[in-house]
Amino acid sequence: MTNIKRITVWGRVTKCAHRCRYCLQGDQSQPGLQWEDYTQTVEKYVKWGNQNGMAIGFELASNYDLTIDQYKWYLEMTRKCGKLSDSLLMGGMKMRNEAEMFDWLAQRKELGLKKVIFSMSGTAQFHDAMNRRKGDLEYLLGAQRAAFALGLNVEQRIFITKENINSIEQLCDDLDAIGKPQRRSVYPLHFRGNARELEDIRIDENDVKQIPAGVMRYMMPEELLSERQWADRLASCDEKNPDNIGMFVYFEPENIKSILSADCSEVVETRKEAVKAEYEKLPCLAELCERYADRNSKKVHEGKNKVAGLWFERYTEDPKNRITPYASELLHAFYPTERVSKFEQTR
Ligand code: SF4
Repeated sequence: MTNIKRITVWGRVTKCAHRCRYCLQGDQSQPGLQWEDYTQTVEKYVKWGNQNGMAIGFELASNYDLTIDQYKWYLEMTRKCGKLSDSLLMGGMKMRNEAEMFDWLAQRKELGLKKVIFSMSGTAQFHDAMNRRKGDLEYLLGAQRAAFALGLNVEQRIFITKENINSIEQLCDDLDAIGKPQRRSVYPLHFRGNARELEDIRIDENDVKQIPAGVMRYMMPEELLSERQWADRLASCDEKNPDNIGMFVYFEPENIKSILSADCSEVVETRKEAVKAEYEKLPCLAELCERYADRNSKKVHEGKNKVAGLWFERYTEDPKNRITPYASELLHAFYPTERVSKFEQTR
């Protein structure tokens, strides 16, 4: 019996200043939502969730380049959702010099910011090309210096591809020279959104053997398996799809006015039933593996959830499955909170 345990309200409200080649969210050129429409909608759903015992979360995609008033709203709303957010993702912001970034971070630290998270894709030669912004790595290093100077916790996420395997150690040395991060992780690319165009540079079984020890210490070697190795491991697994899942409600410029004027219970109930009906048809992991794994693929995915998501995406694209328009909610449902947090805890 499927239970929807959490609803995430998702809307692209801030404009991303990047066009990353690996962006999971795909095309970032579409117009976003008006801030007032977005905040009213989130407020309405958070209030409804609190009154009806439903956990509500929200995502601002694409980035957190918020004015100070917007940031105050954001903090207050995360508090109302039951978990005050004290970290910020630093991708997609407009460029600021180090002094400007120091001030920007200092103002937010005063309000409660404790941690900043930076994503990078190698030394400047690789990173700037991946993020399609000249000087971006230099800007991110300056932003991290500012964060360290303010005593903020810094998390560093680095993407590894066939093209940058031998340059990541240099990036790690450059990063070590500016401060000690709270956490540093190195990952293969995701498989979704624009990253699908980059499958040619996804690391494979042979590349894994070439990763220097100084980089591997930031990875999870036991989770770095190729698709065919994952298929061998998961073909006979008896894992059932979890009963408790999360659901997304997407706000787009085309639907926000109608969602805003509609009754929350009605919107949620209609979507909930549709998502549950789709989810209950979803094959278990072993069957997804049997039907959608590419048993010849030597390309590497980090973690069971990633490869399961890849097979799930193929399932949603298979015309035989006649997925309804709720497929996108389902994609997120396939990363149920329990599974994701279990994976995250192992990091
Ligand atoms: S900064 Fe983030 S949202 Fe913007 S293009 Fe890059 S990956 Fe996508």
